[in-house]
Amino acid sequence: LDGYTLNSGDLSWEKLEKIGDVTVYDRTSYDLKEQDKVVERVGDAEIVFTNKTPVTRYAIDKMPNLKYIGVLATGYNVVDIDAAKERGVVVTNIPTYGTTAVSQMTFALLLELCHHVGHHSEEVKKGAWTNNQDWCFWNYPLIELAGKNMGIIGFGRIGQAVAQIAEAFGMKVLAYDNYQNKELERDTLKYVELDELLSESDVISLHCPLFESNQGIINRNTIAKMKDKVMIINTSRGPLIVEEDLAEALNNGKVAGAAVDVVSTEPIENNNPLLTAKNCIITPHIAWAPHESRKRLMDIAVDNLEKFLLQ
Ligand code: NAD
Repeated sequence: LDGYTLNSGDLSWEKLEKIGDVTVYDRTSYDLKEQDKVVERVGDAEIVFTNKTPVTRYAIDKMPNLKYIGVLATGYNVVDIDAAKERGVVVTNIPTYGTTAVSQMTFALLLELCHHVGHHSEEVKKGAWTNNQDWCFWNYPLIELAGKNMGIIGFGRIGQAVAQIAEAFGMKVLAYDNYQNKELERDTLKYVELDELLSESDVISLHCPLFESNQGIINRNTIAKMKDKVMIINTSRGPLIVEEDLAEALNNGKVAGAAVDVVSTEPIENNNPLLTAKNCIITPHIAWAPHESRKRLMDIAVDNLEKFLLQ
């Protein structure tokens, strides 16, 4: 399922073929929740890999040979774990493959908000050379990061990698996490409570998994506690943000800029308020996808499967 993750020649596709018969299904226009389609495709399989296509209890019950589901992603919420467990089906995920890619993308987005490189390059190509024009600086203010506070919500693998980059830019890091590893604290990094992070950060970047309990953690009330002209980055999961509230804050200038790689409904819907909000960058959930991290993803997927088969 979701075979596009395997579709580039020098990825680990061939290694899987050495293990067994492989059939790849690319994601098509069907509704990902259409579980009969999943059963039609992989109903007889012993081993199933998926990235975003859910495998629910309904599908698991209709797959008599199923022994193993490899989730080609950090999270594993696409699989009904209880149903898999009851059937004795092993489920694996790949938590580490995208740490470098997602932390790098976080800074690509932040630097774009600070420098508007894409905009300025397009202007030059249209014939403008605007670096000495007042309007250029009013409408597209350039921002230095050194000396500013980077608030990181969710201080796990990616959050910590983002912190290292932020520190290299001369920023101070304020980390918020349910679980605090105080050994990570240093001159340029301390754990804080959420309210302190909100009120002290110049940039807020989301790196926690999505749970029911933190859905909409960035909303009208939490935005009101933030500094004026804060910048917000989300490379984690779209529903962490109430998009109407963020759009309003962008349009009224409370939030200076936002950049999101993930949105509440993907693919993005035409009426998503962020599409028309001021100074909002949106990318199509690509943070994970450099060639190197996809190769790592597939190598680990094959390694996990081989270990399972050796048991
Ligand atoms: P991780 O498990 O290493 O770290 C997550 C951290 O969040 C943990 O330290 C956990 O204690 C903390 N946390 C959990 N709930 C929290 C809450 N309510 N408030 C604050 N902190 C909380 O995960 P990771 O590898 O760092 O990945 C983080 C997230 O990045 C993933 O859950 C996923 O949503 C996202 N991700 C996105 C892409 C992409 O392509 N955009 C790719 C990979 C991962």
